[in-house]
Amino acid sequence: MDLLKLTCKELRDKIAVGSIKSTDATEAIFSQIEKHEPQIAAFISTFKDDALAKAKSIDEKIAADEKSGLLAGVPICVKDNMCTTFGPTSCASKMLENFHSPYNATVVEKLLAADAVIIGKANLDEFAMGSSTENSGLQQTFNPWDTRCVPGGSSGGSAAAMATKMCFAALGSDTGGSIRQPASFCGVVGLKPTYGRVSRFGLVAYGSSLDQIGPITSDVADAALMMNVIAGKDENDSTSIDEKTVPVSDYLAGIENDIDKLKIGIVPEFIAAADPDVRNKIEEAIDCYRNAGSEIIEIKMPYFDYSIAAYYLLATAEASSNLARYDGVHYGHRTDSPADYVEVYSKSRNEAFGAEVKRRIMLGTYALSSGYYDAYYLKALKVRNLIRGDFTKAFEKCDCIMMPVSPTTAFKIGEKTADPLQMYMADIYTIAVNLAGVPAVSLPCGFDANKLPIGLQIIAPAFEEAKLLRIARMFEKRNDYHLEQPNLTTNKHE
Ligand code: GLN
Repeated sequence: MDLLKLTCKELRDKIAVGSIKSTDATEAIFSQIEKHEPQIAAFISTFKDDALAKAKSIDEKIAADEKSGLLAGVPICVKDNMCTTFGPTSCASKMLENFHSPYNATVVEKLLAADAVIIGKANLDEFAMGSSTENSGLQQTFNPWDTRCVPGGSSGGSAAAMATKMCFAALGSDTGGSIRQPASFCGVVGLKPTYGRVSRFGLVAYGSSLDQIGPITSDVADAALMMNVIAGKDENDSTSIDEKTVPVSDYLAGIENDIDKLKIGIVPEFIAAADPDVRNKIEEAIDCYRNAGSEIIEIKMPYFDYSIAAYYLLATAEASSNLARYDGVHYGHRTDSPADYVEVYSKSRNEAFGAEVKRRIMLGTYALSSGYYDAYYLKALKVRNLIRGDFTKAFEKCDCIMMPVSPTTAFKIGEKTADPLQMYMADIYTIAVNLAGVPAVSLPCGFDANKLPIGLQIIAPAFEEAKLLRIARMFEKRNDYHLEQPNLTTNKHE
């Protein structure tokens, strides 16, 4: 049996009954990493010895008939902006290249408590700022479907690792699309949960009112399984939602059941605005739902177009404040030769932050400065409210909204780096979801003429992840785009 063809859930079921050993699965993953990582460069760090030791301990636990966790023995990777006591937590920044966290992020604790085997930490755009992973201060990750292209971002390492089967599931974080867009570019499933459903404790903050951790997996059922492990209230994160207010669902229960009389909202202009290959596949996907008995309803979202402007003010404002802690004094990079204490700050920050991070700190500081606060930051907050209202009104008429994840498929490395605004514009379909705080999934729905994957985005009301995943599963049951694999042997860097 080809172990790597198994989903996370299938593997877990087999490990839990002892028919596959976690040690074998972990070894299979590391031989895949040894084979393909030189070509893809998805990981910032890997933990072969520790992972094999953990796998062995889980095999022993199962052999001794002890109860095992939901992810018993399954090799998993996490984005390198989630704190781990093992290995560095670099955020792909020279600032934190040698930073070792004294504690684990809550999601990491939950993975470990579920008996997952954490095999490595994945590359990202520096501090999760970007849409291509080209802003990583440490390395370039390549798209497994065509290594001349970007894997998307900022969770490009997690998505590329998943698409290359260098893990069975991954965690990413999504502030404005960073789970969904790389999932779409790499042909895997990515879920951004409702803001507050998953603890952010130990996630290095970018835009605190927007950031959310979620799974990147090979299919929808695996995303549900991962949610069963990571969702829930955390005393260490005051923005995580009380389970008494909104209970956490069993996301796997009922996942195979279609939703009767599903009402799908679409904004025809949004679909028409995407590249032709993307547009065709999104329309085909919507037809698939229509054929399954769903009703398609045209809706309007008049404020959606303002989401990029509002987001890049709010996210940079929050980032400028969050990144103030990297001052060369507390932790992180410190310059070697400061002339005075002012230079400790200025030189340390100048030496260690990359160009995009600096750009955002400047933008955000400007938007928050006195005299400009009302004109920019406050205005953007008001627009955010209007965008939220667009979703509230839409969900009075439909159960979910469908649109592309990105206007294009994966673009060429270097194609957009010279023009940051063009890079920001590519986030048009994903950003409003974070401003509204609602959940959304990206799932593979076909390929363009160059065999690059296309993602369908499905957006649901807050806390309706269970239903959202059932809706996504309806498509997956009728199509097998998610089963297609990149041909890594024909894929060479130029
Ligand atoms: N591309 C967006 C940005 O650069 C979103 C990033 C993210 O979701 N972390 O801010």
